[in-house]
Amino acid sequence: MQEELTEYKGKATMEKITSLAKRRGFVFQSSEIYGGQNGAWDYGPLGIELKNRIAAAWWKEMTQLNDDIVGLDAAILMHPRTWEASGHVENFTDPLVDCKKCKARFRADQIPPENLAAKKCPECDGELTDTRKFNLMFKTHIGPAEDTASIIYLRPETAQGIYVNYKNIIQSNRMKIPFGIAQIGKAFRNEIVTKNFIFRTCEFEQMEMQYFVKPGTDEDWFAKWRQRRWNYYQKLGVKMDHLRWHQHGPGELAHYAKDAYDIEYLFPMGWRELEGVHNRTDYDLSRHTQFSGKDLQYIDQEDSNERYIPYIIETSAGLTRNLLMILCDAYDEEQVASDKEGGEEDTRTVLRFHPSLAPITVAVLPLMKKDGLAELAQDIRKELKEDFSTDYDQSGAIGRRYRRQDEAGTPFCVTVDYESKDNGTVTLRFRDSMEQVRVNKAELAARLRKEIKEYKRV
Ligand code: ATP
Repeated sequence: MQEELTEYKGKATMEKITSLAKRRGFVFQSSEIYGGQNGAWDYGPLGIELKNRIAAAWWKEMTQLNDDIVGLDAAILMHPRTWEASGHVENFTDPLVDCKKCKARFRADQIPPENLAAKKCPECDGELTDTRKFNLMFKTHIGPAEDTASIIYLRPETAQGIYVNYKNIIQSNRMKIPFGIAQIGKAFRNEIVTKNFIFRTCEFEQMEMQYFVKPGTDEDWFAKWRQRRWNYYQKLGVKMDHLRWHQHGPGELAHYAKDAYDIEYLFPMGWRELEGVHNRTDYDLSRHTQFSGKDLQYIDQEDSNERYIPYIIETSAGLTRNLLMILCDAYDEEQVASDKEGGEEDTRTVLRFHPSLAPITVAVLPLMKKDGLAELAQDIRKELKEDFSTDYDQSGAIGRRYRRQDEAGTPFCVTVDYESKDNGTVTLRFRDSMEQVRVNKAELAARLRKEIKEYKRV
């Protein structure tokens, strides 16, 4: 394992990431024209591409590469008893304190303990209220009558949709233990403090996988899943010295968990949770058995019909939080020679996404609009479109166009010039090194595929 970093030394700040995300169409504030909606964000043209690719990488890792894991897309609205069984109605609370003077609101576990003990506001020294419990679930009503019988919750996690379907999936898909169910979807939490851009929001997306195992084998599977999830981030090309494990101590461990580790990432604001790997024991299925009255035991036909409630190993990652991590991880600035003649050095902002995650894989740029270069470039783009996500840009100086693509994280640019007309070659320009090579346009698609496959982060 690499040595752990003690402080963030990257070039990103939350301000820079937030402003680049807006400038380039990754993420916008929700309902911005009305002053914005706290805790909610909109994903723009590049943001949705990036989010889809992160989701696809996770989905492939979980389902396509594992014969024993299948997918599910459960509803956001679930029977309210689900949340009684899961413990969310009773326990899914944060401790809340308010400042009587400046009206600021804090999570009691996120302010210095000495302030909490002295009931002193960390911002204005005003008096704090007593700590009270605040349930994070969004509650609404279903149907025309707004009475207690019509209460329904927006799911605060995707996991419960998996547990309530576990028997359906065993029966319909002939799954045998050990096996897993993967799901990506929206979750909602009425978070008290939403700061740091999209890190903690009220509406977000999760990528969760629940792996059902025989009791007694859970510790082995827990260790295996921890390793697999670590390797996954390595495969994505994430800076591994920015990742570490954090084991939950007795005070942090959820009421259902036997053991829990977080994978933490070193964001510009410090080490924060990215994903949790939990040994949830047989808590969930036992509770759903109790609350639904349905027998959720597994019948092991390969072991003399032995019956048991499976243990569950969960890997729970935030999709939108992963997107923030990928943006921070990719962000770089470097000094380069100015593209203006006689100009001084310039700062180049570049997102060094893995090419398989980049929203645009290849941009095609004609050197000039005239003399048939634009048409030739459009033809090349058309050919690449079937296999790659492409962009086309013909406005402004070529250097400026490269910089725009660098900021969007586009790993490859193809420039079409007069030589292209004469001999069918184009310039292939690499985002990370800014190197340029001449490639025959007939070989372009194969070359790009090879570059994507063999990509190594500098
Ligand atoms: P915390 O203690 O920070 O509130 P948690 O430990 O309750 O978070 P989990 O319930 O384990 O988080 O959620 C699993 C994953 O879902 C987290 O690792 C995170 O990536 C993501 N997640 C949880 N809450 C949010 C949120 N409000 N906004 C964005 N992502 C979230």
